[in-house]
Amino acid sequence: MTLTDSFVPTTSGAVLDGPALWSAQAHMPSVIGRQLVIERGEGSYVFTSDGRRLFDGTAGLWHANVGHAHPELARAAYEQMMRLETYHVFQRYANDRALELGELLASLAPMERAKVILNSGGSDAIDVACKLARRHWQREGRESKQIILSREHAYHGLHAYGTSIAGLSFNREGYGTESLVPETARISFDDLAEVEATIERIGADRIAAIVSEPIQGTGGVNPPEPGYLEGLQRLARQHDLLLIVDEVITGFGRTGEMFASQRYGLEPDLVTFAKGVTSGYAPLGGVLVAPRVWEPFYLDSPDTPIFRHGATYSGHATAAAVALKHLEILERDGLVARVRELEGVLRTELSGLAQRQAGVVEARVAGFLGGVALDERIDAVRVADRLIELGFISRPLRGNTLQLSPPFIVSDQEVAEYVSAIEQTVAEETQR
Ligand code: PLP
Repeated sequence: MTLTDSFVPTTSGAVLDGPALWSAQAHMPSVIGRQLVIERGEGSYVFTSDGRRLFDGTAGLWHANVGHAHPELARAAYEQMMRLETYHVFQRYANDRALELGELLASLAPMERAKVILNSGGSDAIDVACKLARRHWQREGRESKQIILSREHAYHGLHAYGTSIAGLSFNREGYGTESLVPETARISFDDLAEVEATIERIGADRIAAIVSEPIQGTGGVNPPEPGYLEGLQRLARQHDLLLIVDEVITGFGRTGEMFASQRYGLEPDLVTFAKGVTSGYAPLGGVLVAPRVWEPFYLDSPDTPIFRHGATYSGHATAAAVALKHLEILERDGLVARVRELEGVLRTELSGLAQRQAGVVEARVAGFLGGVALDERIDAVRVADRLIELGFISRPLRGNTLQLSPPFIVSDQEVAEYVSAIEQTVAEETQR
């Protein structure tokens, strides 16, 4: 599809001409006429409808870990659809692929004897985890424990729960309420003493869970302060709160471990995942659940409660088949070990960048995830736009920070070229 550069304002001033598709998180009048339409992918590169070849330095929205247009994954989807597109997993029904994926995910989970709830993405997974945390305490007879604590700058998707617990305030605004789901509160993203003070002020008897990304992504690629996550876990245990670790970005290898919980020595009660479970080849997410939470729902008794959650596509067979093949590829191609090497490469390339390049305030790395924070006088949006002209995709995040999260299949040389393009672009911007 090609998009017109022209636009016709209506009497109300709205821009009329342009595609029917209403883009996500977009200022629509600025998008029309300058949309980048991606129509093909190949490994770490994508191709636009106007013929550009771009290095995908963000792996899309941190999802395309094995790269784009992988034929084995296309084949897995095709073969599954030829056999059975899906069958739901409500009540006594299941499908063989969802069951198989459940076993595999339980064996990889950063907890013993996990159960697995499947759904369609990260925002879905957050909804389930927060509902389940509240359900847990209701069932325990501790009805006042309802509040979900989330960190400043956090991003947990944009369904009603994700919007409610958003630490990026612009994602909460405009709905006429502080929180769509009322029982939420924010904690400091880096100061444990403040977290503890907040817990004490609210009262642990009103708090159901703490939710945290191990490394904040959309909030600006913020690796945790040393000891912070371990401290959150300690406070959760001490105050009897569930710990939900949101591994939607970090899950399935992005930090050089299958889960970042393993990297940081965490034992979560609930883990949310999405993106990296299929590298985006099928919309799939879910929650890993520890025995403390699931066991009461499995007691052999007529009084055992039901967790009333589910959707038509929970446990979608084709998504599960794709995930199974994808996890096989991650293992077979040694990609999680490769991420450990790539973390070193990215660290080396970014080290000293802030010292040698005016306009760069700080470069942060954790796993194969980087954030290059720019001086406020430099516009990260302009830098990202200029990078496109040079053939590289990055993305401005909170804090005037550029996102670096290429697929796991890139070469050391490609990482070096990417960082050097960023450096060159910032240099040009400082001279403007
Ligand atoms: N949680 C985190 C940490 C994320 O980064 C995202 C998406 O970027 C989500 C949840 C929401 O995932 P989805 O966009 O698949 O709904």
